[in-house]
Amino acid sequence: MTKTRASNRLLILMLLGIAAGTLLGGFSPSTALAIAFLGDLFIKALLMLVVPLVVVSMVVGISRIGDLRRLSGIGGRTLAYYMLTTALSVFIGIVLVLLVNPGGAETETERIALRGGEILDKTKYTISGTSITLADAPSRRSYDDRYMVMLLDQGDVRGIISGSQGQGKSSFIVNGWTDAKDAPVRPKIRGAGVRIDLAVVERVKEKKSSVGEVLRDVVTSLVPRNLFKAMANNDVLPLIIFSLIFGGVLMTLGEKGKPIIALFDGLNDAIMKMIGLLMLASPVGVGALIAGRLAHAGGFAGFGPDLLRLGKYFATVVSGLLIHGLIALPFILYFIAKRPVIGYVKNCAPALTTAFSTGSSAATLPLTIECTRSRNGVPAHIANFVLPLGATVNMDGTALYEAVAVIFIAQIYGIQLGIVQLVVIFLTATLAAVGAAAIPQAGLVTMVIVLRAVDLPIEGISLILVIDWFLDRCRTTVNVWGDMVGAAVVERLEGRLDAE
Ligand code: ASP
Repeated sequence: MTKTRASNRLLILMLLGIAAGTLLGGFSPSTALAIAFLGDLFIKALLMLVVPLVVVSMVVGISRIGDLRRLSGIGGRTLAYYMLTTALSVFIGIVLVLLVNPGGAETETERIALRGGEILDKTKYTISGTSITLADAPSRRSYDDRYMVMLLDQGDVRGIISGSQGQGKSSFIVNGWTDAKDAPVRPKIRGAGVRIDLAVVERVKEKKSSVGEVLRDVVTSLVPRNLFKAMANNDVLPLIIFSLIFGGVLMTLGEKGKPIIALFDGLNDAIMKMIGLLMLASPVGVGALIAGRLAHAGGFAGFGPDLLRLGKYFATVVSGLLIHGLIALPFILYFIAKRPVIGYVKNCAPALTTAFSTGSSAATLPLTIECTRSRNGVPAHIANFVLPLGATVNMDGTALYEAVAVIFIAQIYGIQLGIVQLVVIFLTATLAAVGAAAIPQAGLVTMVIVLRAVDLPIEGISLILVIDWFLDRCRTTVNVWGDMVGAAVVERLEGRLDAE
């Protein structure tokens, strides 16, 4: 079978895997859960290869560059590409969310629907301190066992309360309360009064959240205290740094270093072969992962209503991702990297579908490298350097999503953002994406940086929680696609320099 025919066959099988997984998870969650272990197996096999792959391919890549001075050129161009494309995607996200205004309430009913809560008038509640007792507990479930209830006083929204759904419980904690009658609907979060029992909100609250802290964390994480611990945790960034230095030093050893470089070369070929084998199983793995996740969300019947409720927000994020992934990046691929877009994307399909099904750029890395090197012919010394770095720091999709989500939360809370705040969101969303680990839903956690930077309530995260797992997969696909386009761009720029 020719290479093209084999790759077309794999593409068709992957698409069939996705379709079968979606139908199974959507319509028959119980069957889907029964086969979900196949997806776990696939993810574990991918993760198993990440550490050896990163170390070996980096060392090989550096040794093939031959001259350390050239590395700084490749490094510089890679970082410039990453920064510019991430900034572009955040810009697209901000423009879109301002235009669509998904969290803006045109009518009171719409606002309530978005909050997923109910309006109560003054006769239905009494307040004492920070807790509130409702005459009738609202019956509607919303946002993962939480209520968001708006309190109305003679037609004015006077406050927002939230609480967990409890059996027959009618007492809630006051989450936000605005005193001035005509103040914008801006719940003031009171330390003592806030108690939201969502695991994720608890998790993000403990996170470092100032811009300086995050930058410092990224820099200190570059050097591992213990190399094996970094390996055990699948921490890619410190492994990149170690391998870069190790490969560079090997080269300076001359004759003595050559057998070790040859050993790494052999190891690299062996690992790439293993990845090639794993790719054959990817249609089943991808299908099982999608089926399992959709079943976990309750199939179409469970997930559909959440998706509809947050439809405008969902559509805004996905449209932004599509504009960036289908217009901006292909434009760069065609005009700067001078690559045929359709052929390139077709060869990237196994990695892109795996990114969608795993929601993790790190887990996808073996296939990202395989597709870029073997199928798209980007030389090892470029791909081996650009892609592992990209998987951890270049997240166009995540950056775009963070900006849209934060502005959406502001719109829901009725908070007007000025131009300065938009600029702060632009900068911090980029940074939050760099700081996000390449694992599922890491972006949701780093979003707290952006929210804090513009003084928005962190609890707003709970508004978008229910559909985040799905958006995570969409943005991870764009993250990986951005890395793969980057490899072609850097190759082209390097090639042009060589020719000159
Ligand atoms: N899951 C994403 C990735 O691995 C990160 C995120 O946005 O949560 O690329």
